[in-house]
Amino acid sequence: MVLIGPGGVGKGTLARRLVAKDAHLWLSKSWTTRRRRSTEDGSEYHFVDRATFEKAIDDGRFLEWAEFNGNLYGTPNPEPPNDVDVLLEIEVQGAEQVRRQRPDAVVFLIMPPSLEELEERLRSRGDHDEHVKFRLSSTPIELAKGRVLASYEVVNDDVERTTDEILSILEELRQRRRTPSKKE
Ligand code: 5GP
Repeated sequence: MVLIGPGGVGKGTLARRLVAKDAHLWLSKSWTTRRRRSTEDGSEYHFVDRATFEKAIDDGRFLEWAEFNGNLYGTPNPEPPNDVDVLLEIEVQGAEQVRRQRPDAVVFLIMPPSLEELEERLRSRGDHDEHVKFRLSSTPIELAKGRVLASYEVVNDDVERTTDEILSILEELRQRRRTPSKKE
């Protein structure tokens, strides 16, 4: 299961709420070369330098990786416990790679209620002005690419409501997986 959507849309918070509410969802922890934000406690990513990241690429340790806004981000090959669905919270180039390797991956595009709200959220997490402008300018393209990939589009107007909407879709998908349609 993959969450994509423009920066500031609240994917990270949603991902954490989803795994808190669903014991059969397992959130992958990404690697990044980005510097930790002052608002982060260090648990959000495995923060590494570029040389360490590049060595891990060469060693084949990533399911997918991408360069985004000058930093590298990657999903280590998942090693989940039994009986869980894997949740990834990544950007769209990475989601394209996941989809190629796992055509059964279900992609959710998380949408902002409005562009004004997105700008407000980016500013409130302490991003620099230039970075906020860059992220906003790349939003239309992220949304357009995301729409091509996504099976579901969900507006994140309220974290709890949106979490519940995604969980109810997930339950429906699990139900279908348990009772596959009969072949002729
Ligand atoms: P941020 O720097 O704001 O935490 O993340 C920037 C973007 O990178 C977000 O869209 C986030 O979803 C994405 N991202 C986080 N982890 C990964 C990853 O492992 N792989 C890819 N491709 N993107 C990621």
